[in-house]
Amino acid sequence: MMLVDIAKIKTRPGTWLDFSFTDKLDAAACGYDDFRIVGDVVAEGRITSLDDGSFTADLRYTANVEQCCSRCGKRFCQPAAGMLQARFSTSPQEDADGEEECHLILHEQADLAPVILQEIGFRLPMQPLCRQDCRGLCPTCGADLNEGCCSCTTEQIDPRWEKLKNLSFEDD
Ligand SMILES: [Zn+2]
Ligand SMILES: [Zn+2]
Repeated sequence: MMLVDIAKIKTRPGTWLDFSFTDKLDAAACGYDDFRIVGDVVAEGRITSLDDGSFTADLRYTANVEQCCSRCGKRFCQPAAGMLQARFSTSPQEDADGEEECHLILHEQADLAPVILQEIGFRLPMQPLCRQDCRGLCPTCGADLNEGCCSCTTEQIDPRWEKLKNLSFEDD
């Protein structure tokens, strides 16, 4: 959980709270099924009370993100780090002009977990690769070509076919 209690700054525009969290975040529970957070997420930043009664959070985060390689299907982990800014409000915004997304504060607690997960998900590559030169799977036998060549790729010729190979079709 990454909840910031905004009670102290709520009615005092221009004031802020600094926060620092180290905790696990459950991506699946927030609706993300294409990645998983491994270990702790570290988030540090500041939430500031604004004149219009809303809040802005600025933070930097680091996390380890697990994805499936789009070529070989293996799960792999990569560090993710970034900065983000998010707005929070204690009252549901009427979608005025759809400008900036505003996150709802419940029980005077701004929840940073969904904004961090959203940012991590947004920055992930569409086609993740376990490594840049991942060789993927053999389309014929499904062998992981990172672990060596399969028999399909070495073009082994069965001795019984050797004769056929040497046949020439002169009638053609
Ligand atoms: Zn791969
Ligand atoms: Zn193969």
